[in-house]
Amino acid sequence: RAKAMGRNRYEFFTQNLQAEIISHKRTADEVLAGIDNDEFVTWYQPQFNAQTNELTGVEALVRWRHPHFGILAPDRFLKIAEDLNVAATLDHIVLQTVLKDKMRWTAMGLQVPKVSVNVSSRRLHDEGLVGTLRSLSIRPGEISFELVESIFLDEHEDIAATNLDQIKALGIDIEIDDFGTGHTSIVSLLKLKPKRLKIDRQLVMPILNSPQERALVRSIIDIARSLGVETVAEGVETMQHAALLRDLGCDLLQGYAFARPLGFEDFTQMALANWARAAA
Ligand code: C2E
Ligand code: MG
Ligand code: MG
Ligand code: MG
Repeated sequence: RAKAMGRNRYEFFTQNLQAEIISHKRTADEVLAGIDNDEFVTWYQPQFNAQTNELTGVEALVRWRHPHFGILAPDRFLKIAEDLNVAATLDHIVLQTVLKDKMRWTAMGLQVPKVSVNVSSRRLHDEGLVGTLRSLSIRPGEISFELVESIFLDEHEDIAATNLDQIKALGIDIEIDDFGTGHTSIVSLLKLKPKRLKIDRQLVMPILNSPQERALVRSIIDIARSLGVETVAEGVETMQHAALLRDLGCDLLQGYAFARPLGFEDFTQMALANWARAAA
């Protein structure tokens, strides 16, 4: 009897394991199929000048328009894409889409500011990256790359450093993403000379109630300013946050208080309305 129970347990275990393997494998296959079927789309979240409320920046964010599950955010697939070694492919799809969309905005007479795209570590370490970027004929000032700091502590730092110099030479700005989390160092700020520093949402969200985070955010803004680096606050969820960040001297605000990431059509409507308001 004990033996039978043991076997049952064993079968139960293997069945679960198989189900997990199958579902994991299906997800990986789905990501690859999704790439083949053009299911990855680019959404846009606006950033506003804290003083004037003008549309001053845009972040491009990848979404998966899944045939069964609808629009999926990166937390549902980015890790798998990284494991599959296709995160850089997604980055490239997003960049190409941004360049195409910028042409559509220009054709509509709509002035859309520089668009920031996220760049995965793998892509920054790709020796073919600069060649690929050259072939896209990106105009100087048109695009900016968001990098997380941990990228610079990786191995093959030399390739990343060479790429960075050449990326800057192409007129693509560098932004440090998620500043204040992970391997933050002031030294990387000095070395990188980024155009913008994005203060992580984890630091921004508590500023109304926590003097500690508020002091930290104030110091980051002051340091950035003394280095001539613009600051962007991420995760600005309320107008109280926006007002405090403006008082602390933050340059740009991004968050649900203003807008969530939007598809091309919705973003275009939003940008047109902002433009009309600014012109009035
Ligand atoms: P991130 O680059 O830090 O992007 C900001 C994230 O914060 C976005 O999540 C955005 O939707 C979210 N967010 C914006 N405002 C608010 C707010 O007020 N409150 C809260 N709670 N969240 C807010 P999303 O789009 O889900 O992207 C998550 C992460 O996935 C990004 O974080 C970025 O690291 C990565 N990612 C997104 N698109 C790409 C891409 O094309 N390539 C690569 N390599 N990574 C990407
Ligand atoms: Mg980002
Ligand atoms: Mg970020
Ligand atoms: Mg983040």
